[in-house]
Amino acid sequence: MAPAAPVPAPPRDLALDLSGKRALVTGAASGIGRAVALRLAAAGAHVLAVDLDADGAKSTAEDAGGEPVVADLSSPDFLDTLPKDLDVVVNNAGFQQVAPLEEFPRETFGAILRVMLEAPFWITSHALPHMYAAGWGRVVNISSVHGLVASPYKAAYVSAKHGLQGLTKVTALEGAEHGVTANCINPGYVRTPLVEGQIADQAKVRGIPEDEVLADVILERAALKRLLEPEEVAEMAAYLCSPAASAMTGASMVMDGGWTAH
Ligand code: NAD
Repeated sequence: MAPAAPVPAPPRDLALDLSGKRALVTGAASGIGRAVALRLAAAGAHVLAVDLDADGAKSTAEDAGGEPVVADLSSPDFLDTLPKDLDVVVNNAGFQQVAPLEEFPRETFGAILRVMLEAPFWITSHALPHMYAAGWGRVVNISSVHGLVASPYKAAYVSAKHGLQGLTKVTALEGAEHGVTANCINPGYVRTPLVEGQIADQAKVRGIPEDEVLADVILERAALKRLLEPEEVAEMAAYLCSPAASAMTGASMVMDGGWTAH
């Protein structure tokens, strides 16, 4: 079955005013991170666009009227370069490796856990003292349906995302009395370079053509037979930063086109 065409970007009609707030978005050079950075900037936030990809971070920062932070999140060294006064943190950077457990490279397993679980911990713990002092803060962790359920060949990614769910809940419990909320967004497959790479990898591992991977593997479980758009995820991040979501904390905002409904 051919996947549906892209849907138009959702309207940015949510009441959200982040003027005077500083928002850090990791993995902001591309895909979901870039869309979130632009959405928070449109709401008035000063955006720090963090990424390993210097050109991409610069391009997003320019488009968001913010500043680039070129950093490799696989080591905590970058923390010294970050300002302390972060009001919104969006932990989004990530990457995927598809391989059966018995062949999964140990170094890659560790790197995925560092970038996708340890770095969110490092950044959150760096930002919380300012958020607590201000009595307001928002931590948005971009998890995945793979934070809730598993798929074969994705041992590191599934482990990191399940861990991120736990980190988010602890952040929610500790932050509540200080006006800080922490939530996960759990998307299904989103139209980004990460997914485009996975289509090629899955085709190789499974020995089937790429168009069959999209229809029969990627979208097989989803009720909505289309990829999500990064802007749809960004709108959820905006909601979580809005006054309307002040009672949302420790939650998993599943946006998966019905992927986990069965
Ligand atoms: P993407 O590949 O388009 O962007 C990821 C960004 O993270 C890139 O700009 C990359 O340079 C950056 N990054 C990777 N390793 C880094 C490192 N060590 N240091 C700094 N930056 C690094 O991917 P995306 O699809 O936009 O994914 C963003 C997040 O959304 C990831 O956490 C991913 O797991 C999650 N997610 C994606 C999908 C999807 O279908 N695309 C679904 C669910 C969850």
